Amino acid sequence: MAFTRRQFIQIGAATAGGAALASGLSTRWWGLDGDPVPNPGTDGDRVVASYCELCFWGCGVLAHVKDGRVTKITGNPEHPLSRGMLCPRGAGATGLLYDPDRLKKPLVRRAQRGEDVFEEVSWDAALNEVAARLEDVERRHGREALALFTHGSGGVWFKHLMKAWGSPNIGAPSYAQCRGPREAAFSVTYGTPLGSPEPIDITNARCITLIGSHLGENMHNTQVQELAEAIGKGAGLVVVDPRFSVAAGKAKYWLPVKPGTDIALLLAWMNVLVAEKLYDAEYLAAHAEGLEELKAHVAGKTPEWAYPITGIKPDLIRASARFIGGARPASLVHPGRHTVWYGDDTQRERAMAILAALLGSWGRKGGYLVGGKYPLPAYPLPPNLPHHGGAEVADKPKNGGYPLATEVLASGLCDATKPGHSLYDLKAWIVYGCNLMQAMPARQELVDKIQHLDFMLAVDVLPAEIAGWADVVLPEATFLERDDDVSAPSYKRPFAAIRQAVVEPMYDSRPGWWIAKEIANRVGLGGWFPWKDAKEYVKTRLAQKGLSYEELAAKGVLLGAPIATCEEEGAPVGAATQNGKIQLFSKELLALGFDPLPQYVPQEEGPQGSFRLLSGRAPLHTFGRTTNNRLLAGPYPENEVWLNADAAKSLPGFEVQPLANGDKVVLVNQDGARSTPVRVKLTERIRGDCVFMVHGWGQTAKRQRYAYGRGASDAQLTTRYKVDPIMGGTGMNVNFVRIERAGEAA
Ligand code: SF4
Repeated sequence: MAFTRRQFIQIGAATAGGAALASGLSTRWWGLDGDPVPNPGTDGDRVVASYCELCFWGCGVLAHVKDGRVTKITGNPEHPLSRGMLCPRGAGATGLLYDPDRLKKPLVRRAQRGEDVFEEVSWDAALNEVAARLEDVERRHGREALALFTHGSGGVWFKHLMKAWGSPNIGAPSYAQCRGPREAAFSVTYGTPLGSPEPIDITNARCITLIGSHLGENMHNTQVQELAEAIGKGAGLVVVDPRFSVAAGKAKYWLPVKPGTDIALLLAWMNVLVAEKLYDAEYLAAHAEGLEELKAHVAGKTPEWAYPITGIKPDLIRASARFIGGARPASLVHPGRHTVWYGDDTQRERAMAILAALLGSWGRKGGYLVGGKYPLPAYPLPPNLPHHGGAEVADKPKNGGYPLATEVLASGLCDATKPGHSLYDLKAWIVYGCNLMQAMPARQELVDKIQHLDFMLAVDVLPAEIAGWADVVLPEATFLERDDDVSAPSYKRPFAAIRQAVVEPMYDSRPGWWIAKEIANRVGLGGWFPWKDAKEYVKTRLAQKGLSYEELAAKGVLLGAPIATCEEEGAPVGAATQNGKIQLFSKELLALGFDPLPQYVPQEEGPQGSFRLLSGRAPLHTFGRTTNNRLLAGPYPENEVWLNADAAKSLPGFEVQPLANGDKVVLVNQDGARSTPVRVKLTERIRGDCVFMVHGWGQTAKRQRYAYGRGASDAQLTTRYKVDPIMGGTGMNVNFVRIERAGEAA
C-alpha cells in the first residue's frame, strides 16, 4: 500500500482528539455500568468476521472476542471497503455494544405521546400489542396507511414485512434529506444514479475537487484511504468550502465560497474551461450532446461575473479551473453526499455532473468508474403467498409530486401523515434505526404529524429521541450481536460480505430479522418469512449458486471476478441514457418545465446581524447515532459553534464583554427557535457570514445519559426548508441565527 497508517490518521482524524483516539481506543474500555474498567486485553480467543454499522459504509471488520466479550475490532484486510483499516468510529464500536444506556427491554407507552413514560413488558406482550394495533389500523384505514422509515442494513427485514403487509410507503431520510439531489442529477445527465458506495476512482485522480464534500470529517473509510493514497502519489486538491476544513488544509486551492453561490462558481469554472479549450473535445464529440448549448450558456459567466456573487477573486477561479482542466481526464469532481442545501440542489449537482463530463472523467481512470454487483440470487419465496396492496406511494401529492424523485421521500411520507396532503392519509409508522427528530427539518411540523398517528413503533438499539414519541419501542441487538443479510453493493470489485453475530445479544434485545418475523407471524404473514433464521436465509441464497456459507463466515467476504471499470481497462464509456449520450443540455428537464442547464439564482439573505447556519460532520461521529458512545465521545464530547473571530468583535450585545473562545452561547434563529447552550469556537477558519456546527448534538432524549444536554442541535434551528422542485429534497441551509450569550433572558 502506498501510504502508511499514520498518513491515513493524519488526514482522517486531523481534528482535535482524532490521533489520540486512534492510539487510545484499545487501552480504554467501558463496563456495563458506564465506568471505565481495566482493559480486558486485545488478544482474543476467537476472531469473527462481520461488517460494520457505526455508519452505513459497511466496512469489513474482524471482531476479537475473549471470554465472551468483544475486546477489539480491526479492519478485515480482505474486504474491499476496509482494506485492513477502520475509521475511528468502527474501531470504537464496542462503545455501542457496551453502552450502559441501551434499550434493554420492550417498552409500551403508558402516558400521552411526548411524555417519555413507558412500561417494560415481555416480548410476547409487546409483539401482541404491535400486531393488534397494526390490524386496527388496517381495519380502519387500509393496509397502505402504514409507513416505514428506515436506515441501516437491518431495515431489509422490515422492508420485506412491508411488502408482505401490502404498503408501498417505505422511505429513508438518506434520500430526500441527504443524497437525493445528486442521484437525480446524475440520472438526468448519465442515465444512472450513483448509489452507495459512489463508484469513483480517488486513488488514480490527479486532481480531486471537493465542493460540498468534507473527506476527513466525513469518514467514509475507503475514500479517506484513497485520498491519502492519491495525495501520496502527488494529486492536488481543490476545495470549495466556506470553512477551512480538514481537506482544505491539504488543498492546493481553497475557495471560501459565499454559501449559496456554488452554482455561479461552477458556471465560471466551465466558462474558463470552454474559453481556454481545456475540455475534452474528442470525448464529448463521441459521448455527449448539448455542447453548443452549454457553450452559449456559460459564455457570459466569466470569473469576473462570478466574483461579486461568490466572493472568490477571478484569478483564483481561473487558476483553479486551469488546474482542474489540466488534470483531465483523471480530474475527479467528487459528487458529495449530503447535498440538500438550498432547494436548487439538483441543479447544483447537475453543474457538477456536467463539469465532470467536460473533463472527460465519466468512465475514465481517475474519474467515475463502472461498478458491478456480486451475483447472488434472492431467497426463493414459496409461490401463492397472499398479496395485498397495489396502492400508489403516499409521498406523491395529487399533482404528481416531484417528477425526478428516484426513491420515496421520507418528507413526503411525513406530509402524507395529515389529511389533505396526499392520495390518502398515513396513520401508522414503523421507525427503524433512524432518529427522525434530528434527520427531518421543522421539528414542530414533525411532532404535529406524529400526533396525528394512530400508532408508532420504534425499533432501535438506543433510546433515541424518536423512541420517546413511539407507542411501542423494541430493543434491537447491535450489529455485533446479530446475523443479517449479506452486503453486496455495486462496487469496482464486486463482493459479498457477511454480517454475523459475534456475541450473544445483551439484555433482552433481539435481532431485527427475528422481530420482523415475529410481527409477521402475528398478523398472518408468517408464510412470507419461511426461513428459520437469518443464517438459514443467507445459506439458502448462497446455496443456489453453490457457494459455501462456511467459507464466507470464515473470511467475512467473497470476492467476485475483477471487472473492467473504466475505458483504460476496456469498459465502455457511454452513458445509460436513452440514446447512450451524456446529456449536457437536458431535454428531459426542459420538457418538465425546468432549466435544461443550471442557472444561478440568488438565495435569500438573512436578517441583519444574523449568520447562515451550516452543519456537517466530525470524524469521530455519525450524526446523533454515536454521541452517546463513551469511547467516541471521550475525545469529542460535544459540538461547538464555529464563528469567525473578526465577526465576533462586532457582535451586537457583546460590546462591554467581548465573546471569548469557549464561552457558552445560545443561537436564536429567524423564527425565534433557540438552541441549548453551546461553546463558541472563534476562528479565522470560517467566513464571517456563516456559522458552523457538527450535526447530531443537543439531544433531548434523557435516557441517553451521556449525550443528553451536550452541545446544540442544528435540527432544532432548522425551522425552515426549501423543497427542490425536481426531486423533492429538503434544502436545509436556509436558516439564519443570531448569537446571544448563554444565560440571557429569552
Ligand atoms: Fe464503520 Fe467507519 Fe467503515 Fe463506517 S466508515 S462502516 S463507521 S469503519
